[in-house]
Amino acid sequence: MSMEIYERLRAISEEVFREASLSAYTTFKVGGPARYLLIARHRQQIIDTLTLCAEREIPRLIIGGGSNLLISDKGFPGVVIVTRNEHFEILEEKAPPPPQLNTASRLQTLEPPRRLPQLNRESEDMVLVRVQAGTRLIKLIKALHERGVYGLEWFSGIPATVGGALYMNMHGAHDYFGQFVHSALLFDGEKTRREFNPYFEFDYDYSILHKTRETVLEVDLLLYRGAVETARHLGREWARVKAIQPQRSAGCIFRNLTPEEQKQLGLPSPSVGYLIEHVLGLKGHRIGDALISPTHAAFIENAGKATAADVRRLLEKVQTEAREQLGLRLIPEVEFIGEF
Ligand SMILES: Cc1cc2nc3c(=O)[nH]c(=O)nc-3n(C[C@H](O)[C@H](O)[C@H](O)COP(=O)(O)OP(=O)(O)OC[C@H]3O[C@@H](n4cnc5c(N)ncnc54)[C@H](O)[C@@H]3O)c2cc1C
Repeated sequence: MSMEIYERLRAISEEVFREASLSAYTTFKVGGPARYLLIARHRQQIIDTLTLCAEREIPRLIIGGGSNLLISDKGFPGVVIVTRNEHFEILEEKAPPPPQLNTASRLQTLEPPRRLPQLNRESEDMVLVRVQAGTRLIKLIKALHERGVYGLEWFSGIPATVGGALYMNMHGAHDYFGQFVHSALLFDGEKTRREFNPYFEFDYDYSILHKTRETVLEVDLLLYRGAVETARHLGREWARVKAIQPQRSAGCIFRNLTPEEQKQLGLPSPSVGYLIEHVLGLKGHRIGDALISPTHAAFIENAGKATAADVRRLLEKVQTEAREQLGLRLIPEVEFIGEF
């Protein structure tokens, strides 16, 4: 790539960096350099950068919170867009009823934690809130409470953006992000278009964007106006629970077990953390500075100067043990980027 690409990126954003280390933009704090890294603070900057990448056939990667990524030590040989377009507006006080939601069986297996306050969302008025994709959920939840709006409390304490949460159909306790998505504005490299909830085919750790690779520019969320005090209390309590989890990580490194796998193995929980700790006995296992977390065995944490290769080898060690001891195929929840 030439000087010309750099100049064109500079015309889009003042914040463009060459050979910028990506470790600072992931929660794992691992990953090599991006050929170019651009911080997008406005939607148009995302559109312009993606248009350039499509025109010139340059590989591109969108990073939101960087909280579900394991980026190779070799980095990324193209343009990385870091979304920091943080803004929301309340569109309608009385929103239309939610569209038909996808209720795939996998989406019903999560239980609400019982000892925390529960929200009665049925009786409340619904509001439609338009949120830019780079908005961080932690900030959004608090800012919405200030405006008397709630609904996203089970995602408190998760270092994700709205775009990444939609892409992954992130789950928090018993809620899935897709439940709240009314519609979203997408960009496919040439044009923008709005798509409604059923388009995304939300499932466990899945949206259609895994296949289409379209970029989310903004999301309309259906939320509630009402019991903000209870919601605020719940948000704080849940964030406290989440804070105990290792932050230099990518959350749970594997998907939970399916109900069939759990039944077959006779386990009391679908949690891979339970399996790693009590069945495989790998809690605390370490390769380099990558560590199976002593506080939460479903997490691999960077306990110092871990490389992406350390993390990958540790993850593969767990997979091998699960396969050899139990005939079980563990599926990573984290996304691998670049060459390993
Ligand atoms: C401490 C910790 C706790 C966590 N707890 C949970 C949890 O409780 N539940 C859970 O489900 N996950 C959890 N995670 C994992 C992670 O937060 C989620 O997977 C989240 O959805 C990732 O969002 P992100 O913005 O960080 O996405 P990133 O990691 O930046 O990106 C993930 C994927 O989304 C794509 N993407 C990002 N933005 C866009 C966009 N605007 N348009 C299109 N694609 C986009 C990226 O290209 C990439 O493919 C946790 C992670 C950590 C570190």
